[in-house]
Amino acid sequence: MSIFLQNVHKILRRSIELGNFPEELYYFLAKPQRIVVVQIPVRMDDGRMAVFEGYRVQHNNALGPYKGGIRFHPEVTLEDDIALAMLMTFKNSLHGLPYGGGKGAVRVDPKRLSERELERLSRGYVRAIRGVIGEYEDIPAPDIGTNPQIMAWMVDEYSVLRGRNVPAAFTAKPPELWGNPVREYATGFGVAVAAREAAKRELGGFEGLRVAVHGFGNTGQWAAYWSARFGARVVAISDTSGTVYDPNGLDVELALKAKRETGKVVNYPKGEKLGPDASLYVDADVLMPSAMENTIRLDNVAKVKARLVVEGANGPTTPDAEAVLYGRGVTVVPDILANGGGVVMSYLEWLQNLQWQAWKEGETRDRLEGQMVDTFARVYSAYREGRGVTMRDTAFILAIDRVYSAIRARGWM
Ligand code: NDP
Repeated sequence: MSIFLQNVHKILRRSIELGNFPEELYYFLAKPQRIVVVQIPVRMDDGRMAVFEGYRVQHNNALGPYKGGIRFHPEVTLEDDIALAMLMTFKNSLHGLPYGGGKGAVRVDPKRLSERELERLSRGYVRAIRGVIGEYEDIPAPDIGTNPQIMAWMVDEYSVLRGRNVPAAFTAKPPELWGNPVREYATGFGVAVAAREAAKRELGGFEGLRVAVHGFGNTGQWAAYWSARFGARVVAISDTSGTVYDPNGLDVELALKAKRETGKVVNYPKGEKLGPDASLYVDADVLMPSAMENTIRLDNVAKVKARLVVEGANGPTTPDAEAVLYGRGVTVVPDILANGGGVVMSYLEWLQNLQWQAWKEGETRDRLEGQMVDTFARVYSAYREGRGVTMRDTAFILAIDRVYSAIRARGWM
């Protein structure tokens, strides 16, 4: 079994024990309700036929339609997709959304496809899973390697298949196709809000704190941007090209420009250039791992200097590494809490789409921020009251509680 899936099982088992839930609930939630495996044929630009493997994992729908992103990544496995779908069930529950959890993936390196090939693959994936998705069944969104343009192709393909426009079937669409401008930055914005709320309670405030961001994609870019907007000093940013570091603070807008224009953050014109993992180990108060799972592990956790870890990525800290961090007095704000801004915003977009409305950016962002602040406060006070040893335990216990109540109300257990 993949390390990531083993880790999610460990977290689930521990939370079920600490929360005094029945053991049979563990067996119920340890496996997804449905797994769809598809082969997607794509005609490549050179005339060749390539076949890509894809998945849609539907973990649990006790609370409502399945909801979760689609990952395009060359190393993605079905087991990792199951782990991600499980996390979505608990994330959606924790944030009070009327959704269950799901996740999709295609094993492909999207950077190696032309735009037309990427479009054909995106449409092919939708045709392959069309029977199990829909605005009231399972609502996908982006994850690593996918973006609003891909959601636009997907919602268009799905609408053609259904014979009418179905805007609410996908979220994080571009603003010109039923999206909302806030969704582009919602995940990173939420990560920065969670960091600010945690720093206020644990470190006496967020302003002036040194922040390091590992991963500079959709999550990391906006986590860095909003951290700077909230008054923190972003000292290190990494992507696969390397790290840019400046103890006096980076100009985040300039880093965003370098990333957008050249695809590499190391083309930021100033600062020191280091290897891609250096942002994990620099002198910083807050670390935001925002790239991949299993980033902070037992073999490298000793080098992490931050006093607060805020998980932008899903599953970036392994359970044994987290235990070491807590042993040193470092608080970890868990993924299902910290990066929930993306799916909360997806929910707001879905609500707009079901009503054929378009909400303004400012009011939408205020609503998203309010929900993140409230959820953070709820988890933090339960954590301080001792519901769970770590903030992750607490978040999972609250999330499992809501799923379990729905399961019982439905008469499934
Ligand atoms: P992206 O593909 O947009 O970005 C991933 C970033 O991580 C890229 O900048 C990539 O570098 C970088 N990266 C990958 N591997 C490494 C490495 N070894 N060292 C340094 N940097 C690395 O993905 P997202 O931002 O969408 O997703 C990131 C994480 O956030 C994932 O765990 C995802 O599940 C989670 N998440 C995303 C949400 C969303 O709305 N997008 C919602 C909730 C969670 P490069 O740019 O060079 O490729």
